[in-house]
Amino acid sequence: MIDVVDVIKTYRRGEQRVEALRGISCQIPRGACAFIVGPSGSGKSTLLYLLGALDRPAGGSIRIDGADLTGMSEADLNAYRRDHIGFIFQSFNLIGNLTALENVLIPFLPRGVSASLRDRAEALLDEVGLSDRKHHRPRQLSGGEQQRVAIARALIKDPVLVLADEPTGELDSKTGDEIYRILRRLQTERATTLVVVTHDRRFIRPDDLVLEIQDGQLLTDS
Ligand code: ADP
Ligand code: ADP
Repeated sequence: MIDVVDVIKTYRRGEQRVEALRGISCQIPRGACAFIVGPSGSGKSTLLYLLGALDRPAGGSIRIDGADLTGMSEADLNAYRRDHIGFIFQSFNLIGNLTALENVLIPFLPRGVSASLRDRAEALLDEVGLSDRKHHRPRQLSGGEQQRVAIARALIKDPVLVLADEPTGELDSKTGDEIYRILRRLQTERATTLVVVTHDRRFIRPDDLVLEIQDGQLLTDS
């Protein structure tokens, strides 16, 4: 369960203060799929950043399965993000000179990769349909294949939460459909909580939670 209470975020831009989030409260149940939607500049990415422990709110609190992100030291916040949160980006963010398999193992490279981890990475690549692409580099893969590598990379740490920022923004609609099919299948199988920022509402299903932001505030939370 993710519990967001009265979160405020202010940026400084020169002399000006930009109130990006102005009192956001919401609860996202474990295993849910939540979509953050709203116009450009409304605060979607800012909320995703805060949920991902990439930044801290100026006020309010964020708890993920009881862990209070707002009260953590910088070091604890970094460790929490590294160990428990998976990220999927619009532009895939793969490393060009590493193979698909090595890219999936990126979260563990600084700590060393055991044989069993390597097996897990291979199994994840099988699950996303890339059995025959494990040793290809990103430039040898299509956009959809690269995003599937990124999904496997996000899932290898068995995250409590997967965050996706416009995951199909650079893909054609057929490939986008395929990416959502894979994301949802893996999320359902693992009961991972998934939070997605998107402009594209056609992927939203009736059971999903829709967080609609306008000017830093939630319009609806159902
Ligand atoms: P999107 O609408 O696709 O989510 P972005 O999140 O990249 O786009 O940007 C949303 C708005 O926030 C834009 O108006 C952009 O100019 C602004 N913005 C993003 N990052 C910064 C920044 N570091 N400094 C100032 N403005 C920013
Ligand atoms: P969205 O993702 O919905 O497009 P953002 O969360 O990127 O919106 O931005 C919300 C507001 O905060 C916008 O007014 C944007 O210009 C501003 N903003 C975002 N990031 C920064 C930043 N790093 N510095 C200054 N202003 C920012």
